[in-house]
Amino acid sequence: MIREAFAPHKKLDGNKIRCDLCPRHCVIPPGRRGFCKTRENRDGKLYTLIYGSLTALAVDPIEKKPLYNFWPGALAFSISTVGCSFACKFCQNWSISQVTIEEARGRIEEYSPEEIVALAKKYDCETIAYTYNEPIIWFEFVYDTAKLAHKEGVKNILVTNGYITLEALEELVPYIDAANIDIKAFSDKFYKELCSVPSFKPVLEATKYMKEKGVHVECTNLIIPGYNDNFDEIRQLARWVFEELGPDTPLHFSRFYPHYKMIYVSPTPISTLVKAREIAMKEIGLHYVYIGNVPGHEGEYTYCPECGYPVVKRLGFDITEWNLTEDMKCKKCGTKIAIKGEYRGDRHRLINYIR
Ligand code: SF4
Ligand code: SF4
Ligand SMILES: [Zn+2]
Repeated sequence: MIREAFAPHKKLDGNKIRCDLCPRHCVIPPGRRGFCKTRENRDGKLYTLIYGSLTALAVDPIEKKPLYNFWPGALAFSISTVGCSFACKFCQNWSISQVTIEEARGRIEEYSPEEIVALAKKYDCETIAYTYNEPIIWFEFVYDTAKLAHKEGVKNILVTNGYITLEALEELVPYIDAANIDIKAFSDKFYKELCSVPSFKPVLEATKYMKEKGVHVECTNLIIPGYNDNFDEIRQLARWVFEELGPDTPLHFSRFYPHYKMIYVSPTPISTLVKAREIAMKEIGLHYVYIGNVPGHEGEYTYCPECGYPVVKRLGFDITEWNLTEDMKCKKCGTKIAIKGEYRGDRHRLINYIR
């Protein structure tokens, strides 16, 4: 549904508007939309076209986001709309991220923030995740819902490309508890050629800002063979996470499967993911580095950084073994493990896809 936008923007001469929500800073003439196709200038006023317009609504394990070191075993009431500030050639959700609201019309249902928060509570979800397509461009609805969720004791999760101006982030961040941020590569070339984004520097700035403001941050790097599987680049990425976000920040190396415009590229060899993880842990010193999209791999476990004991075993999105004390200490050596929140136990049996 259409609502006047309140994310940062500026009126320019000739009834044009500069949108300052993401670092594209689109200058939008009257009657036109920005790059994300969800924000429109109507007679010199900026509107969001997607307020409360949902394409999906599901109860997911929090591990699916992926968040491994935040409220393990919790449920995430997951919602999405249409559009994205990126145009990744490998997008697995392209059928919602790369379409307009008109193209998705038959798949949209309208909800209010009150309804979303009530549903999250009804399904016993500790969190609401804004996910599947890019939530930053959904600023107004995310802001209103997240604010209300906090009042009702529900936490908020962003699963995002991290492409947001600090000006906009400053407004949103008080209501965000956790974020999984994609750092797709440590190279502008990759971002330009595969995502149509001029530079990834704003992503790093936003990630750092969230961490500084107390948001629980986990980063994901999808490794695509032949495009971002250079180990020097992976080393740089891991070093950046270590130095700027700290050794306790979880980093997920995720396996690529062919999607969208990149169906000709093979899935990532497991050996590449294993080596990336080794570099990040042994060479760089990160404590919690995971392998994603490889169910059954021991890179899904959380290990005690002190004694190496597997303190949390997982299989896919399920926790199969929990070897931590109530105050998140390794049962073997007593080292405090950097997991935020409580262990919510085996609650995944409650998962119920409701749409
Ligand atoms: S949010 Fe959309 S309209 Fe605004 S600057 Fe980004 S891409 Fe452009
Ligand atoms: S940022 Fe995410 S949702 Fe947007 S196009 Fe890229 S992969 Fe798809
Ligand atoms: Zn230990």
